[in-house]
Amino acid sequence: MSSGEILVSEADGNGGIMAQPKNLEGYVGFANLPNQVYRKSVKRGFEFTLMVVGESGLGKSTLINSLFLTDLYSPEYPGPSHRIKKTVQVEQSKVLVKEGGVHLLLTIVDTPGFGDAVDNSNCWQPVIDYIDSKFEDYLNAESRVNRRQMPDSRVQCCLYFIAPSGHGLKPLDIEFMKRLHEKVNIIPLIAKADTMTPEECQQFKNQIMKEIQEHKIKIYEFPETEDEEEMKLVRRIKDRLPLAVVGSNTIIEVNGKRVRGRQYPWGVAEVENGEHCDFTILRNMLIRTHMQDLKDVTNNVHYENYRSRKLAAVTYNGMDNNKNKGQLTKHETADGMSPLAQMEEERRDHVSKMKKMEQEMEQVFEMKVKEKLMKLRDSEAELQRRHEQMKKNLEAQHRELEERRRQHDEEKAGWEAQQRILEQQKLDASRTLEKNKKKKIF
Ligand code: GDP
Repeated sequence: MSSGEILVSEADGNGGIMAQPKNLEGYVGFANLPNQVYRKSVKRGFEFTLMVVGESGLGKSTLINSLFLTDLYSPEYPGPSHRIKKTVQVEQSKVLVKEGGVHLLLTIVDTPGFGDAVDNSNCWQPVIDYIDSKFEDYLNAESRVNRRQMPDSRVQCCLYFIAPSGHGLKPLDIEFMKRLHEKVNIIPLIAKADTMTPEECQQFKNQIMKEIQEHKIKIYEFPETEDEEEMKLVRRIKDRLPLAVVGSNTIIEVNGKRVRGRQYPWGVAEVENGEHCDFTILRNMLIRTHMQDLKDVTNNVHYENYRSRKLAAVTYNGMDNNKNKGQLTKHETADGMSPLAQMEEERRDHVSKMKKMEQEMEQVFEMKVKEKLMKLRDSEAELQRRHEQMKKNLEAQHRELEERRRQHDEEKAGWEAQQRILEQQKLDASRTLEKNKKKKIF
């Protein structure tokens, strides 16, 4: 190679070759590479899928409008919780937002009805099903021959709205986050933060973070970087977690400036004022600083988990018929658990489950047999009782008939005796008459 070579090769001690950076004297042109990527990305546009979860009335639709400065929801087309009631449904709306020639196709996934029922057990299931179905779509698209068109509708972030109760997390909040934290990047938010004083809000935040740690809930982890400036920003965001937000669809004039805010008799709660709430932090991190990381974590961690679970299930059964396989989580792989070990564990689980089921079934069977025997014994006794009763009745009837027969025989004998007397009397009378007739003749 000439003196203008780009790389100098050197053994790295592990049998590999390390590349030493070297400054070029002339201009080759690859400094322009980022611009090529930039132009391509701008041309293609960007996609982002954001899910909002929380009870109705916590301000989800209002916050979405405030975040993207669009009236995705309006009086003519109100937020899902105003249109859909009762059961939990998952509804998605798409909006194409443009800024400085850059297109962002935003998909908002809402879950109207979440947590609104008296019994909220399993209300997270439609959300899990939706997230899994989007992973499934992506997995199917990946395995197609033509992979040029890969629409990505995987949920990249979930804003979880916590009611500003001031007390702490509800059991439903804990359950939801625990069930979803391996599937989606969860960012907890305190809704309607303008209903609390700054001190109450800070105390509430501390309480929530304490509970999140106690319950080992894994919320979205902001990535560590070597850039001091970026790390400062990340630390600032982490210190404010969970972000307390205020949403508003109204523009108010404050000191000659038009701002989104909520007008109260005692003042205005400004949505974009960092002293009033963390809305700006949320919007900046979502759109300006961490959108790509949210996408990367979705792809590299959550989707990979889903994919390996799916593949493990396929390898294990020869076909994909077990959706609820154990989770192969980031944590488990870090522990060094291989897919084979995972499968073996799942097999053992399965066998022990089957044994348990068998035992339970045997117990149920025995109980049923016992019940049946008892019933048989009862009905046998009842039959015996009825038999005895009938026998007694028959005997009584028999005795009655015997009595009647005896009476009848007596009556008959009396009547026959009378008849004989009458016959005798008749015979005697006719004999006397004969005698009298003969006397008269002579
Ligand atoms: P969703 O059912 O969660 O979508 O809630 P909406 O966005 O429809 O809001 C429900 C009600 O709460 C509406 O009357 C909103 O004006 C109000 N609201 C929304 N955001 C806030 C907020 O940050 N603070 C207060 N105090 N009220 C809010």
